[in-house]
Amino acid sequence: MKGANSLLEDVKTLSSDTYQGRKTGTAGAALARTFIKKRLASLGLNSYGDLKDFEQPFTAKDRTGKSVNANNIVAYIPGKSSEMIVISGHYDHLGVINEEVYNGADDNASGVAAMLNIAAHYKKTKPDHTLVFAFFDAGELDWQGSGYFVAHAPFDVQKVLLNINLDMISHNEKNELYAAGTFTNPQLKKYLTHTQENVKIMLGHDNPEFNVDDWTNQSDQGAFHAKGVPFLYFGVEDHKDYHKASDEFENINQSFFIDAAAAILEIVDNVDKDRDVQSLYRQKLQMKKQ
Ligand SMILES: [Zn+2]
Repeated sequence: MKGANSLLEDVKTLSSDTYQGRKTGTAGAALARTFIKKRLASLGLNSYGDLKDFEQPFTAKDRTGKSVNANNIVAYIPGKSSEMIVISGHYDHLGVINEEVYNGADDNASGVAAMLNIAAHYKKTKPDHTLVFAFFDAGELDWQGSGYFVAHAPFDVQKVLLNINLDMISHNEKNELYAAGTFTNPQLKKYLTHTQENVKIMLGHDNPEFNVDDWTNQSDQGAFHAKGVPFLYFGVEDHKDYHKASDEFENINQSFFIDAAAAILEIVDNVDKDRDVQSLYRQKLQMKKQ
């Protein structure tokens, strides 16, 4: 696949010890931001609205309740229409614990790399919709970055047609990638087609009745969902390296990851090319009125 090298390179870079596990408020997280911003600038993306140098700074609370400086990174590609799709994923991870670096290759260097891959594609082929790329900080602190973003977005979040969130898309022995979000919005199922060999899209993890198994509020799509924005969340089930120091580049499933990123790009394109995707928004307004 086109872009396979940069997908792997991006994960390898972001999950190398240089970035010290990208913990919110640390020098490692700042380095990760520098890397992402450089990639965005070299792809030719712009900062959104009044944001300077792609950054949306905010104050997060760490696990001890201490305030730490955090920064979301927001870029966009204008489409033929100003109707918006927000593609998101957190770039922070757990940092250094007991002198061990938690590199977070799957969680979530993989999602960041796939977002950059999507951005690269649409810089070459203008999208129908305006695509906003939101790289969130403080994902590992109960998704404070997306919480801040939806509360202080540089546009009306309620007008977003769809949030596509990526969090852990590179590590599964069975080639299974979940797409959560169709329980609330079954009409999203029609977009989940792709031509990649090494990835099987699974539905589920989005029914509130199964509570711990329901991922709706377990990554950054939760903040969008709370505002009534339809979402598709792509991620794998927890694995042996989840939130362990062993979540390293060497342990991701490379061919699965490359195909997962390609499948997600095809699905984004299915959504983008569907003129009728606006019906999601109209349906949302209807639901609100009731
Ligand atoms: Zn994560």
